[in-house]
Amino acid sequence: MHAADLPDFVEREANLAKRNTLGLPAHAALYARITSVEQLAALADFYAPGDCRFFVLGGGSNLVLSGDFDGLVLHMAMSGRALVGEDADAWYVRAGAGENWHDFVQWTLAQGWPGLENLSLIPGTVGAAPIQNIGAYGLEAGDRFHALTAFDMQRGESVRFDRAGCRFGYRDSVFKQEGWHLDGRFVITDVTFRLPKHWQPLTGYADIAKELAAQAIEEADARQIADAVIAVRQSKLPDPAEIPNTGSFFHNPVVAAATAEQLLAAYPNLPHYPQADGGVKLAAGWLIDQAGWKGKDLGPVGMYEKQALVLVNRGGATGADVLALMQAVQRDVQEKFGVELTPEPVFL
Ligand code: NAP
Repeated sequence: MHAADLPDFVEREANLAKRNTLGLPAHAALYARITSVEQLAALADFYAPGDCRFFVLGGGSNLVLSGDFDGLVLHMAMSGRALVGEDADAWYVRAGAGENWHDFVQWTLAQGWPGLENLSLIPGTVGAAPIQNIGAYGLEAGDRFHALTAFDMQRGESVRFDRAGCRFGYRDSVFKQEGWHLDGRFVITDVTFRLPKHWQPLTGYADIAKELAAQAIEEADARQIADAVIAVRQSKLPDPAEIPNTGSFFHNPVVAAATAEQLLAAYPNLPHYPQADGGVKLAAGWLIDQAGWKGKDLGPVGMYEKQALVLVNRGGATGADVLALMQAVQRDVQEKFGVELTPEPVFL
């Protein structure tokens, strides 16, 4: 890459402190706010694997900045949302990758298209949603996914990924499995969702059922479920604008059935959820709490007092502080339960 020839819209030495919800200090050597495919096409001319590191940034809500980044940050700000099709079973709704996820979900509900309500208030952008297959309260983005368009920086052309091509798993997709997202080869530009006309409510999770019961709602519609989700999340999760954080910091671990049985013998209250594949999902927040980290700080960072799964920046933290706390929590959970916690955010 010849930096001197880069297009005008590429900035140098950009400050990323306000572009990550943990509020960590870092600069990017090169930074571009992307609002069109044409900009990506212009940058593709400079793309050479191994020559320059590209990083695709959405809302910065699932990101730990370890320090300055010597590559090019592509900040996805592509906007737009529209109904692009309809059949007897579904509405097909497309949004630009840079659209705020929560705003998009609320907009679909306002149009009378249910299906994404359980995913209200998840931070981040539409383009990031399929990458880690965001999910909450028994619903995953992949369940409502139809297709996405990504720009292939290597070949300089747009490509379409259907549901099978995305290989969705629990908080997982082909974009994580192959590391494509990190090396910047495929940049998601828009996502289309398939929202069901024969909608069924998903209210099985205890927190949501409790919230609806408290409001004496028996047969909740999609709007009421969204409101319940919003109320529950607001009561447990800190607003990044007030307390910088990245949402859940660790994945909920899935262990072998035999391991879960041994743990249950020692800890009968252990929340556990058998999976279709025979594994058993454990609640990472409970393990962290029991390991003594709920509401506890290490330097300027800590595990949030109302939800131990959330790592918060109390002010002035650096990437090194986050790493130190992450490792301390992992070590203590491993020592107490023999369970490995893996972090959810991307580290840059
Ligand atoms: P929670 O509801 O206290 O649940 C903790 C754990 O128990 C999770 O592993 C959850 O599975 C599981 N669980 C609870 N009730 C269940 C049920 N009825 N059936 C199966 N599994 C059940 O979790 P929370 O921390 O307050 O978060 C609320 C929801 O938001 C959860 O679904 C969580 O996964 C989701 N969330 C998602 C993201 C993300 O997409 N990046 C970030 C933050 C929170 P699941 O994880 O499969 O739901």
